[in-house]
Amino acid sequence: TRTPVNVTITGAAGQIGYALLFRIASGHLLGADVPVNLRLLEIPQGLKAAEGTAMELVDCAFPLLRDITITDNPNQAFDGANVALLVGARPRTAGMERGDLLQANGGIFGPQGKAINDNAADDIKVLVVGNPANTNALIAQRNAPDVPAERFTAMTRLDHNRAVGQLSAKTGALVSDVKRVTIWGNHSATQYPDIFHAEVAGKPAFEAVGSDQAWLENDFIPTVAKRGAAIIEARGASSAASAANAALDHVYTWVNGTAEGDWTSMGVVSDGSYGVPAGLISSFPVTTKDGKFEIVQGLEISDFSRARIDASVNELVEERDAVQELGLI
Ligand code: NDP
Repeated sequence: TRTPVNVTITGAAGQIGYALLFRIASGHLLGADVPVNLRLLEIPQGLKAAEGTAMELVDCAFPLLRDITITDNPNQAFDGANVALLVGARPRTAGMERGDLLQANGGIFGPQGKAINDNAADDIKVLVVGNPANTNALIAQRNAPDVPAERFTAMTRLDHNRAVGQLSAKTGALVSDVKRVTIWGNHSATQYPDIFHAEVAGKPAFEAVGSDQAWLENDFIPTVAKRGAAIIEARGASSAASAANAALDHVYTWVNGTAEGDWTSMGVVSDGSYGVPAGLISSFPVTTKDGKFEIVQGLEISDFSRARIDASVNELVEERDAVQELGLI
């Protein structure tokens, strides 16, 4: 029997947490043969709700679920953690300036980075979901100097999956026939979903959508980038289930590898590839194998794509400069 993997989830009592925990416990994070211990971190006001969710987890009698810990102490939550999903964050409220938002999140992700640094297992892998995800990941990473920087990642897999879904809907192809889509930059409205290297049922994706530049610019790109708002408008609640699903996909792919001839999108520490300043946590096309990722190299970037990548990366530079000025990194 395998040793259980310790999985820490912050903001576990929130909406994404509720959509996430049951699927982690049923094997969708790491695989159907990998037992897990769940470590749920919440703020004090969230502990009671987390206990309620834990009662339901027990009631599911998941064969893979070994142990559940509930705590408001980051050192305890990250003790021996192999995988950490940082979901809890300070939401932007009406009238809040960006500086206030970054400051509030610095107060969360700085200490969590330090707690990961001091307590997590040597093979720790971190995924930041809580927004602003890329910059929150940067704050956590910079506060964990003993952990290799590439272990801190930010989620753009939901954007990636949304782009795959839109291409499938437009062309009628199966989602499994859509390959090599890329999300570049920040997980925000400036993100650039790039189909110019993608393939739909063996054909270049741009051809598969009728080489329709107007559709790309006025329909596809804004639909992907603004999907979260459209779902809130339609459902009256946020897209928590698809966000949780993307978090599972992100970690599963990181651990178990991308398929031959395909790649995924992850926010990872830049090594300077494609002109993205080194050290920023920006989304790139990546392949994964044996628990490691590599940024896909050598893609040709058109002027159209370049301008959009630069706009999103510039936003990340501004966020980094702001948290630097606030002394958070
Ligand atoms: P959600 O579970 O809905 O969302 C959590 C975070 O994920 C938010 O930052 C949210 O960003 C982000 N997110 C990313 N993608 C999506 C998406 N597609 N849809 C929705 N959210 C997305 O928030 P809740 O308020 O329900 O729950 C948050 C929980 O975190 C609470 O229980 C709170 O107590 C806890 N918390 C825990 C902390 C800790 O453990 N130290 C610290 C802070 C909070 P956005 O706001 O942009 O939607």
